[in-house]
Amino acid sequence: MKLLISSNNRDKIKEIRAIFQLPDVELVALNSFPNAPQVVEDGNTLYENALKKASMLYEFSGLPTISDDTGLEVDALNGRPGVYSARFAGENASYDDNVDKMIREMQAVPDKNRTARFRTVAVFYHPDLIIHEEAVIEGYILFERRGISGFGYDPIFYVPGKKKTLAEMSRDEKNAISHRGQAFSRLYKSLLIQFPSITDIN
Ligand code: IMP
Repeated sequence: MKLLISSNNRDKIKEIRAIFQLPDVELVALNSFPNAPQVVEDGNTLYENALKKASMLYEFSGLPTISDDTGLEVDALNGRPGVYSARFAGENASYDDNVDKMIREMQAVPDKNRTARFRTVAVFYHPDLIIHEEAVIEGYILFERRGISGFGYDPIFYVPGKKKTLAEMSRDEKNAISHRGQAFSRLYKSLLIQFPSITDIN
């Protein structure tokens, strides 16, 4: 059977593929569907956005679909940018624009107040079964970038237990501890428990 990943983000897709290895299930990326609708991420919560991405793409493709929505919550910014993390520096902001803005806004914040977390909500959508799982990783926002792996805010997100930023980790290292890695591992386990015959679905 086929399972669709409702994302155009190549970095995310690689991370998800590394986790979601189900026997007899072929993971299909959104770029296999050039006419797929663009999902406007206008929900007020990560769950609303993740559910919208998965359900719209199920309606379009007829395939069971997985999706995620992720936000960076910075305590010194009262939890911003959160659900607006992709647009922190404006509508079409690049990763670099967002990281630069974060470094600027956090310039005067002392070490002890630089706490932050990534939060991911991962969703599996099929009309017979909708599952979601959430996970966080706690860390600190650095004053400048460190590392070149990963994507998005990874170069300024420091994980104290590893003494590294997420961008200084290999994909496997990041996946083992990250918000997305944990959320999709939980989703994977829930799916197999609640729906052991998933391969009969289509
Ligand atoms: P999305 O809406 O789930 O695609 O994520 C919103 C924004 O959060 C993205 O544009 C990235 O800038 C950032 N982001 C999402 N996941 C990660 C991650 O694993 N590391 C760093 N930044 C991330």
